[in-house]
Amino acid sequence: MPDTAANSWDARAGAHMLYGFTDLPSVQARGAVVLTHGEGPYVVDVAGRRYLDANSGLWNMVAGFDHPGLAAAAKAQYDRFPGYHAFFGRVSDQTVMLSEKLIEVSPFARGKVFYTNSGSEANDTLVKMLWFLARAEGQPERRKILTRWNGYHGVTVAAASMTGKAYNALFGLPLPGFIHLTCPHYWREGRPDETEAAFTARLAAELDEVIAREGAETIAGFFAEPVIGAGGVIPPSAGYFQAIQPILKRHNIPLIADEVICGFGRTGAVWGCQSYDFIPDAIISSKALTAGYFPMGAVILGPDLSDRLQAAAEAVEEFPHGFTASGHPVGCAIALKAIDVILNEGLLDNVRALTPRFEAGLSRLAEHPHIGEWRGKGLMGALEAVADKPTKTPFPSTLSVSERIANTCTDHGLICRPLGQSIVLCPPFILTEAQMDEMFDKLEAALTRVFSEIG
Ligand code: PLP
Repeated sequence: MPDTAANSWDARAGAHMLYGFTDLPSVQARGAVVLTHGEGPYVVDVAGRRYLDANSGLWNMVAGFDHPGLAAAAKAQYDRFPGYHAFFGRVSDQTVMLSEKLIEVSPFARGKVFYTNSGSEANDTLVKMLWFLARAEGQPERRKILTRWNGYHGVTVAAASMTGKAYNALFGLPLPGFIHLTCPHYWREGRPDETEAAFTARLAAELDEVIAREGAETIAGFFAEPVIGAGGVIPPSAGYFQAIQPILKRHNIPLIADEVICGFGRTGAVWGCQSYDFIPDAIISSKALTAGYFPMGAVILGPDLSDRLQAAAEAVEEFPHGFTASGHPVGCAIALKAIDVILNEGLLDNVRALTPRFEAGLSRLAEHPHIGEWRGKGLMGALEAVADKPTKTPFPSTLSVSERIANTCTDHGLICRPLGQSIVLCPPFILTEAQMDEMFDKLEAALTRVFSEIG
């Protein structure tokens, strides 16, 4: 088919796709980037242009786009046993092996795993587990879910309700009983003259107050990302998890770590909770779990929730929940390989080795008069643009500053993501030092150009 304007890849995509999470005016003006393949941390479009993907796809392609071992693991499993479910006491051997492996690498001494196709479904699944458990234990009123503003937990109905974003109102969400607490972002949310320790203490006091107001017996769980990811890469204020966990424990409210982004190395430890020194009651995993080579999510339950859910399910003979592709053997084979690649082939080591260079790059760009703050942990980072640095005043949203920076980067062969007024970087774990320097050089050029245009 000749690639005319009317018949271009972009026009064909726009005619037949309803884009999600896409700035439509911008894509209509600029055209979609239609990709054909990848090479290491680069992706290549239909015109042969290469882009360094500083977002690892959507945080997930941590081993890059052409890892031979992952493709081989998928092929071998497709040849051997291309699909099965995990209902009715039938389950693939790969699913059993992955479950053992996930508990082995989890922070839990023992536990159980439940599989989904995505991070959103894993969060919805755990909400249903908590509701099921509460009813089984004679506490049907224990249904409310606590999360934080700016936390991102996905798009299915419960996960979207957990997500602390204003766009939820467009859907008439959140559902009743989903309560959002203050985002633990000291730089933005801290009051003038409030120390970071006082800020953390204020957030802990807020949690106490919300529990007292709502009634502890009505709260099923507290979900938190160790580092808020899609809300703009927001590490918690110092001591945050140490301040809130005892309050939750006192009221028998499980703490769930949504590790969809942080899990499997992003923060420099296997789990984000390990980077922040706490052990949750359950973990939500996805993305790097398969290095992005298969859609898969997992709920990893610690010992207490495992035992109680097992007992609750036995009491009514089954836990009536699951997806056709839960524990898909190909996904499990890929996940087993991905975990091996991340933990044993030097990817996690590379995250740790590259982190100082990454932080140095972010902090150098944050010297710009229009960068208010750099934030980061491991290989996830953000630069927040401000109109006025001392007062942290944002640019008017009509200027679309972060979108313009990201678009300028794309024009120069770098994919990075605008999130609010921030630019987010979360490169693949296979990045080299030279590729990291290329990433910062291209971003710096884009920042300079866009800020000089704005004046
Ligand atoms: N939880 C977190 C922390 C996420 O970052 C995401 C996606 O970015 C999700 C859940 C939802 O995962 P999915 O897009 O696979 O449904």
